Amino acid sequence: MKRICVLGVMCIFGLLLAAGCGKEDEAKAPEPKKHAVPQPTFISIGTGSSAGNYYLAGKAIAELVNRKIGTHNLRCSVETTQGSVFNVNAVMAGDLQFGIVQSDRQWQAVKGKSEWKEKGPQDDLRAVFSIYPESVTLVAAVDAGIKSIMDLKGKRVNIGNPGSGHRQNAIDALEAVNIDYKTDMNAESVQATESANLLQDGRIDAFFFTVGHPNRAIRDATVGNRKVRFAIIAGIDKLLVKYPYYTKSIVRSGLYPGAVNEGEIGTFGVKATLVASSQVSDTIAYAVTKEVFENFADFKSLNPTHAHLTKPGMLKGLSATLHPGALRYYKEAGLM
Ligand code: GLU
Repeated sequence: MKRICVLGVMCIFGLLLAAGCGKEDEAKAPEPKKHAVPQPTFISIGTGSSAGNYYLAGKAIAELVNRKIGTHNLRCSVETTQGSVFNVNAVMAGDLQFGIVQSDRQWQAVKGKSEWKEKGPQDDLRAVFSIYPESVTLVAAVDAGIKSIMDLKGKRVNIGNPGSGHRQNAIDALEAVNIDYKTDMNAESVQATESANLLQDGRIDAFFFTVGHPNRAIRDATVGNRKVRFAIIAGIDKLLVKYPYYTKSIVRSGLYPGAVNEGEIGTFGVKATLVASSQVSDTIAYAVTKEVFENFADFKSLNPTHAHLTKPGMLKGLSATLHPGALRYYKEAGLM
């Protein structure tokens, strides 16, 4: 009996102590701020490797959005990624809100073809705008005797990493001239960031990169001791008939004085585009579109590849349904 009493007293004492502590904590708790600043919404843009122009385009978009944090309360960041195919998948998974992707991969994703054959059509993919043209560029060492894509048989060639958009462009181009990348040559599958060094160090003979020009990785590849040229891509007409999303394109050798070519080199190409998921709110897609289009001169000057952009041109080359937030801006601005 005596033990029960002692226990009871201890329990009551414990409870009182706990209650007392609680009061003391409450007294110490900071007063809620009267005019608390709302936390910004964080959004990310998936780009490509740091050697590419997607990264610069993404940074330009982010800068324009972040300038208006006071208006839209959006904080935009840029991520380096493996490229177009990775970006489509990351946007669909909700890991990224926006992604820069090649127009041909956008088409394939919407239709559930090529890299999306198993997953099926990416119905929630939405187009925001297109940006600049990208050319399928084949950079080759002069001492390897490569003048055209047909000379790649038996050579070591970087066709690009899985997850990039250019990898499939390289495979399509090789197929058009009956070169099987698995059996007819030594194909490397590394990111474009590696290509310039690999070529200059003699560890590869050539590399493919689908990119807007001018581009840093291509410049780095053309300014070393090993002389390089832009190789001709044959079989383009065949490619244009087979794939509706490819168009004729050129590389201006004047942009790369280190290369041995002169004039324009004919090739095929696509466009860099910005996509989002339908899950991204209209308000966010509207804000991103508006800041790019309303600050167009700045957008053009923030990346050399943007120099020749026009607003109507940025509404072309899209195959996914337009994001309703972007559409709202285009209607408001009289662009549609
Ligand atoms: N077109 C390339 C890709 O889709 C990326 C080019 C770039 O980063 O500028 O992977």
